[in-house]
Amino acid sequence: MSRVAEGLAEVEARIVAACRAAGRERDEVTLVAVSKRHSSSTIREAHALGHRAFGENYAQELAEKADALRALEGLDWHFIGHLQRNKARLAVGAHATVETLDSVRIVEALDKRAARDGVSLDVFVQVDVAGEAQKAGCTPQELGPVIAAARAAEALTLCGLMTIPPLGRAPEESRPHFRRLRELATEHGLTQLSMGMSADLEVAIEEGSTLVRVGTAIFGPRPS
Ligand SMILES: *Cc1c(COP(=O)(O)O)cnc(C)c1O
Repeated sequence: MSRVAEGLAEVEARIVAACRAAGRERDEVTLVAVSKRHSSSTIREAHALGHRAFGENYAQELAEKADALRALEGLDWHFIGHLQRNKARLAVGAHATVETLDSVRIVEALDKRAARDGVSLDVFVQVDVAGEAQKAGCTPQELGPVIAAARAAEALTLCGLMTIPPLGRAPEESRPHFRRLRELATEHGLTQLSMGMSADLEVAIEEGSTLVRVGTAIFGPRPS
């Protein structure tokens, strides 16, 4: 088996086991394979194995890969990096689900561009649950207006909330952040939760994740 085939099979087995342990159905959780800094040929290989959802962090890289791979059927791009307003057109061009909206301004910029291009996008609002000052994501207090703007947007469909807990800690330390994200989603009437990465996807699934974003455990270390 190739590295990618092995990685996908291993992560699939982890998700199946976590769903079973949590009394959830496997199809409640989407696996987004985070392909940032990996080549288009790696994505092609995963696609040939039947995988469809891929996550990218850099708008330019997303645009280039979406362009190079446009012939592949059913690709489902997720933009998971910080989106600058002047890069909104790149996410729109790739028809990506944008998971990282964190201000009214970026919601409005993305909506304007998508409407202009006649594209409709699924979006998530990113929340900085832990309140790390330098980190992307809106605070729980700022969430209301961002959600309202996303709901009012004509070309965007608000799916749910996304978070990245403080990195490099034990998986169990992510749990309170995941739990808080779920509470915030419930408060705001949202059902989808993008949370959980290579290190802590089991904890995320226990806490209700509907979308895990997994890079290293599938593709190995990222080329620098
Ligand atoms: C890189 C990245 C991931 C994947 O991280 P791994 O630890 O490699 O699984 C998930 N989410 C976001 C937002 C990322 O930037």
